[in-house]
Amino acid sequence: MWTEDQLTDDLDRIGLGAGDSVLLHTSLRRVGRMQSGPETLLNAIREVLGTEGTLLVPTFTFAHSDPAGWHNPPKTLEALVLARESIPLFNPDTSPTHTEWIGYFPEFVRKQPGAFRSSHPIVSFAALGKNAEFLTRNAPFHFPLGENSPLARLHQIDGKILLLGVSHKSNSSLHLAEFWADVPYINRSATLKTTPDTWSVMKGSPECSEGFVKIEPLAIQSRLVKRGVVGDAPSQLMSQRQLVSLGISLLQGDSAGLLCDIPECKWCVPARKMLALSQGAISAELDLE
Ligand SMILES: [Zn+2]
Repeated sequence: MWTEDQLTDDLDRIGLGAGDSVLLHTSLRRVGRMQSGPETLLNAIREVLGTEGTLLVPTFTFAHSDPAGWHNPPKTLEALVLARESIPLFNPDTSPTHTEWIGYFPEFVRKQPGAFRSSHPIVSFAALGKNAEFLTRNAPFHFPLGENSPLARLHQIDGKILLLGVSHKSNSSLHLAEFWADVPYINRSATLKTTPDTWSVMKGSPECSEGFVKIEPLAIQSRLVKRGVVGDAPSQLMSQRQLVSLGISLLQGDSAGLLCDIPECKWCVPARKMLALSQGAISAELDLE
């Protein structure tokens, strides 16, 4: 059973330090049993970050998007209409994190006194500490993981990323790399419920991240990650700026480089088509010259 002191030592050893602003992606199950559950981990992180530090976590809420675009959409039109009606509006104070995909720890963080949460209906973040308000305020509705997003703000203040028992598949900052690399598929859109009677089209929908694991060998090769163990969880700490730069270079070499290879992927298959179309348009332009 891990204690706060033991986890503090582990976090220290991996390189997290006082005054850091850190985006944490975590699997509590991988960390193992802790003396007071998630509170032990949170206390350890706060102890290491100190009063000048900031903890940022994803509190995504995919349930506020149009059920027609879900991974398992309702099968009949009738079921779709009912599902659309039953979707609540996003409320940053109360809407629960999609813990099944994101894990329970962010939900625990967002409920802490003094926590700030950004207002995007599907990809919000919660933060605690010195830069919490800066990171979460005025989050953009369109391209929600692009310019001015909590991810871009973390980049602005040179934050770090800590993967605690999870792989790069959870490393959402690679969506910022996709945005800055301007890959054609960032122009996908999604429909979100924004008032009881309104569905709004959001431009720049961040989608599948299964392919993000492809950054792993490059990240190791470029010595970008510091590896360690926190509790029982194999963990990786990195500079978000270095990770995003690496993601951009990868995409500049191969714009499909962060898409997954699952043959039936609902998101990456159309993304590849968008890439092929844009490449076709470029060759057509070259032919005219
Ligand atoms: Zn995919």
